[in-house]
Amino acid sequence: MRVAVIGAGAAGCFCSVMLRRQCPDVIVDVYEAGSRPLAKVAVTGGGRCNLTNSFRAIRSLKEAYPRGEQVVRRAFCEFDHEALFRWFEAEGVPLVTQDDECVFPRSQDAMQIVETLTRAMSKAGVRLHTSQRIISVEQAADVTAPTGPSGACPGYVLRSQGGTFTADAVVVTTGGSPKVSGLSFLSPLNLIVEPPVPSLFSFNIAGTSPLMGLVVDPVTCGLVGTRMRSRGALLFTHWGMSGPAVLKLSSYAARHLAECAYRAQLMVSWLDEMGEDEVRSLILAMQSSQPSRQVGNTHPQQLPSRLWQYLIVRAGIREDQRWAEVGRKQINRLVATLTADVYDIEGQSRHKDEFVTCGGISLRNINPGTLECRTHPNLFFAGEVLDVDAITGGFNLQAAWSMGYVVAGQLRRLAAGGE
Ligand SMILES: Cc1cc2nc3c(=O)[nH]c(=O)nc-3n(C[C@H](O)[C@H](O)[C@H](O)COP(=O)(O)OP(=O)(O)OC[C@H]3O[C@@H](n4cnc5c(N)ncnc54)[C@H](O)[C@@H]3O)c2cc1C
Repeated sequence: MRVAVIGAGAAGCFCSVMLRRQCPDVIVDVYEAGSRPLAKVAVTGGGRCNLTNSFRAIRSLKEAYPRGEQVVRRAFCEFDHEALFRWFEAEGVPLVTQDDECVFPRSQDAMQIVETLTRAMSKAGVRLHTSQRIISVEQAADVTAPTGPSGACPGYVLRSQGGTFTADAVVVTTGGSPKVSGLSFLSPLNLIVEPPVPSLFSFNIAGTSPLMGLVVDPVTCGLVGTRMRSRGALLFTHWGMSGPAVLKLSSYAARHLAECAYRAQLMVSWLDEMGEDEVRSLILAMQSSQPSRQVGNTHPQQLPSRLWQYLIVRAGIREDQRWAEVGRKQINRLVATLTADVYDIEGQSRHKDEFVTCGGISLRNINPGTLECRTHPNLFFAGEVLDVDAITGGFNLQAAWSMGYVVAGQLRRLAAGGE
């Protein structure tokens, strides 16, 4: 059996290694558009490669995977983060789990992951063809005798600028495509595509630049008029707001925000999950315990003083105003500012370290347990090319490894004549 893998990224390389190790008789050709494999993995995690997560801080998979959670759940039954951890350590790559539950190679060098996988591919006899962008994939229509070992599928014809290739089975692992045109090589197959939009971005918000560099941890934030909420550290940037809380919210709201052209209202609760009553009691206690002190000089311990000074001004209180001079209306405004502070989002900026695509090949095209296309037998998908993506923290790569593993298992069964 001949298998063509399109895309030498995380999912494609891992799938090809697992397949060849399990089935040395299967010929595996990996076609990569770029000049080297795993180019994106090399830059992940700021060059350190956050290859997975301990999942300990995640309450439900949906929290990590806003899209594709069901597919990921099934893939994890076969190969989860613990299996991945063991796999890399067995390959001689010691891993470390940070306090924030992100997992990195102990060397803190993404190239160790790239080299380990590249070596494993070469040792397993995977045939890697770089600088081969596949421009079309078609089901071979003119084959009279079945060529696939299952005896049912006539196989596929792949075209690149440099040539035409045939395969009994195809695995598409081309990663996220920011534009629909990036998936045009699959047009002959008439698949359903979810329009791609960016995920994991910062919010452009005017007027916050004086706070640049400030981190508030944790806050809860959400989009006004929706139920989308997230929690974590918030970072003020030159253009607005970023940090885990904002990136997570951008992931949950990726499609919604694209539909409203990145114009929306962000609501921030600066004292995390403290409710209005609790915040009011805190403020009234501060007022009664130090009536003669200036408001700008006394801040709740959870908030940096620079942010407190900014927020009291937003609430209409002067920094030099004494607590005794603060009236009821001002207290009300301060409580509202601390618990539900609203900012206009005026656009988005891509995070320098990580961004992913929401959308891609619709999950309606595939069987979620096998990742095989429902309409085209022996055609599989794995990784970000599917409408599967996650928040930051190693979850995106974990999905790619796990799906690559599942497809390798399916191909092994196919090569064995179906089990
Ligand atoms: C800067 C950055 C940092 C990131 N950091 C992290 C991180 O630390 N942790 C994490 O979990 N996730 C991270 N991500 C996300 C993660 O890298 C991706 O989700 C993951 O790489 C997806 O794996 P994949 O195999 O599906 O696709 P990719 O790794 O993107 O691989 C797809 C491959 O297919 C090739 N290809 C595309 N089209 C064709 C074609 N027509 N013919 C042939 N080849 C083709 C591409 O050249 C590419 O090599 C980061 C993303 C970015 C952009």
